[in-house]
Amino acid sequence: MAAEACLGAGLSVHLFEAKGSVGRKFLLAGKGGLNLTHSEDGERFLTRFGATRPMVEPWLREFDAAALREWARELGVETVVGSSGRVFPKDFKAAPLLRSWLRRLRAEGLQVHVHHRWRGWVDGALVFESPDGEPRVTARRSILALGGGSWPVLGSDGAWVPLLESAGAQVTPLRASNVGYTVEWSDLFRQRFAGEPIKPVALRVPGGAWRQGELLVADYGLEGSLVYAQGQALAGAADESGVDVELDLIPGGDSRRTREALRAPRNGRSLSEVLRRRLGLAGVRAALLRECLDQASLADPATLAARIHQLPLRLGLPRPMAEAISTAGGVAAESLSTECALQARPDVFCAGEMLDWDAPTGGYLLTACMASGRAAGIAARRSLGQDDGAA
Ligand SMILES: Cc1cc2nc3c(=O)[nH]c(=O)nc-3n(C[C@H](O)[C@H](O)[C@H](O)COP(=O)(O)OP(=O)(O)OC[C@H]3O[C@@H](n4cnc5c(N)ncnc54)[C@H](O)[C@@H]3O)c2cc1C
Repeated sequence: MAAEACLGAGLSVHLFEAKGSVGRKFLLAGKGGLNLTHSEDGERFLTRFGATRPMVEPWLREFDAAALREWARELGVETVVGSSGRVFPKDFKAAPLLRSWLRRLRAEGLQVHVHHRWRGWVDGALVFESPDGEPRVTARRSILALGGGSWPVLGSDGAWVPLLESAGAQVTPLRASNVGYTVEWSDLFRQRFAGEPIKPVALRVPGGAWRQGELLVADYGLEGSLVYAQGQALAGAADESGVDVELDLIPGGDSRRTREALRAPRNGRSLSEVLRRRLGLAGVRAALLRECLDQASLADPATLAARIHQLPLRLGLPRPMAEAISTAGGVAAESLSTECALQARPDVFCAGEMLDWDAPTGGYLLTACMASGRAAGIAARRSLGQDDGAA
């Protein structure tokens, strides 16, 4: 996005990428259908960034979800709104969009140098590690978009942190965000249900409000948008070994009706049948009751009814940063100008996940990354006196 903004002003732009191809994490996001953005109104969208909203808001005021959808459309990719309001390419794929985007950028003059890992500065020049040695590149402006620290195998490994710190930038330590939590499932439950979505369901962190959404059983524990969205609350409530949460397996349901359904004579039906026929609880949601409750609770209709709406579940530790969808932390707002240039090096701009903001899944991450890249590109070209597309 930064390159696009600069090419539009007729500048010569070189993109250096550590891996053998660009956009690997973008392509990985495509495996989940590429949730590009969200269709909710702009104000609500901004609330998703929590305390980090002030950093993100100026970018999104200039390039919001609607602008992103229009941008994709211009690249030949129509988008659709899913049932949860999330926006995806119509074909739920990332590769066609990335291909079309790169084609356009190359046609506009972008020069891409893969297998070039940036290693810092020497005498003001950018130094890269490449198969051909250690080329030094002098640029009038540099825009760093080096990602966070999740999925390091795709190229974003956070190795830039000490480089920027030594250049005088303040970096909030990177930490896992949008990450799953371990749960000590029984072998039986794990084998039977790993990979199964739990929905509908609501989750409550101690002291917090109920949130409805989707969970996914992982072989190691629990993941999914509902866990991700409550990441900060979970981290705040956790002790050194984990955190107790509660699930409501019939969110929005009437607990009195649940109680009555369980108290009514069973007429020879098993508990599983009663749960399925009268309460619509089957599969993984019914199995969770057996996984989390003892026999006495299952046998007592009043207790069981109460637990269906308030099922205690112990989450262990979050999974490591390498497995997270994204990372929080990064270059701190205090180290940046309002234009996202480093205060210690005004010729260097930063963009994307490497900046210190955070959001849940839902398309907010990609939207903010794209909007920030665009903002950094525009700021860089303006600082060169190239404004609004003037060559
Ligand atoms: C499994 C998964 C699914 C996701 N799905 C979604 C989704 O559906 N919707 C959504 O909004 N977000 C999603 N995300 C998050 C989203 O992909 C990231 O937030 C986004 O890609 C970050 O963009 P970025 O450009 O800042 O960093 P990255 O995409 O990480 O790109 C940074 C690039 O910089 C390169 N690089 C790093 N260091 C150097 C160096 N020293 N020298 C040269 N190059 C370097 C890396 O190789 C990489 O190509 C997903 C993430 C994961 C892991």
